[in-house]
Amino acid sequence: MPSTDIMEFKTFADIQGHFQIALDLLLKKENFSHGVWPYKLYQSEASCQYEKLGKRCAQPHQKGYVVSCTDGSVVLIGNCCAHKYLSLDDESVRAGFKQLDANRRQSIRRRRVESLLKKRQSYIEQGKALHLQHRDMQARIAELYNTFPRQIWQKLIDRWKTNRLEVVWEYQITKTGTENGRKVVEKSWYPSSYGKLTGLGAWLEWDHQTYAGRISDYRKQLELIPAKDQLTNAEIDHAEATLNNVAAITSLERELGALSKMMSDFVEPSNLVRAVQLTSNQSVRAETVIAVHRLTGDTLAMTPERFVVDIDVALKRKHDATGLRIQQ
Ligand SMILES: [Zn+2]
Repeated sequence: MPSTDIMEFKTFADIQGHFQIALDLLLKKENFSHGVWPYKLYQSEASCQYEKLGKRCAQPHQKGYVVSCTDGSVVLIGNCCAHKYLSLDDESVRAGFKQLDANRRQSIRRRRVESLLKKRQSYIEQGKALHLQHRDMQARIAELYNTFPRQIWQKLIDRWKTNRLEVVWEYQITKTGTENGRKVVEKSWYPSSYGKLTGLGAWLEWDHQTYAGRISDYRKQLELIPAKDQLTNAEIDHAEATLNNVAAITSLERELGALSKMMSDFVEPSNLVRAVQLTSNQSVRAETVIAVHRLTGDTLAMTPERFVVDIDVALKRKHDATGLRIQQ
């Protein structure tokens, strides 16, 4: 049965395109079920299937109705017979159709919801696993956040947001010479890269994310769907709205997975140590050295200040430089 309620049939072929009309069947008061849809054709090309005085009326007509028999087959009846014997009129037929259509849609929704609810337990488990994954990430992020100096955390956020991932320090080369008998000093700066920061992402601003609320909301709504066979229409509405979030929750799951992967990249020791080079403030750098060692579990065999000085000395020595600065 077509679902649109603005069907317009102009030819007999139009009707046949929408309904499988049982052309040989005779319609009587006894086998009449309900009107399906009115039509008004350009020409009198429909034949009335109502049985009058023991035979088919067969009146060719333009205006009439598609009606349903008690056995589910559909036939045509002309306007006159329909009005006279079945008291059909356009308005009641249309209203009846809309109601049938609404019932049909509702039963399709119900079947879909009921079939989805068979997987209810797996949705509940997915929600629970997601909750645990979220909690685990939260703990990992908290550890990073509490270990790094505040300034460094902010630098990481800035680097992520402005997509400036390469950590570059500049070294200064001083050349001296004579020009026209006068001593000339020429100072130039050159870049030296410590590589690109990897794994920066939305996990740096965990507090701004709404994951926790979305996950717990979803889990609560799932629990609210009654675990019984015959849900009421209102319960179907609620269950459908909740189950419509399965896709969103699955994409949230992927999002968390991606963030978790980013964090794993970030805590690679070779990447973590780049954090020491995000500022020229020596005491913050020294604090960052301690943080990095705490996070990697490596023992710091010297003072953190010494660690920082060694980085600088190595760069200076490599280029025979007279100065160093971080590239802003
Ligand atoms: Zn008739």
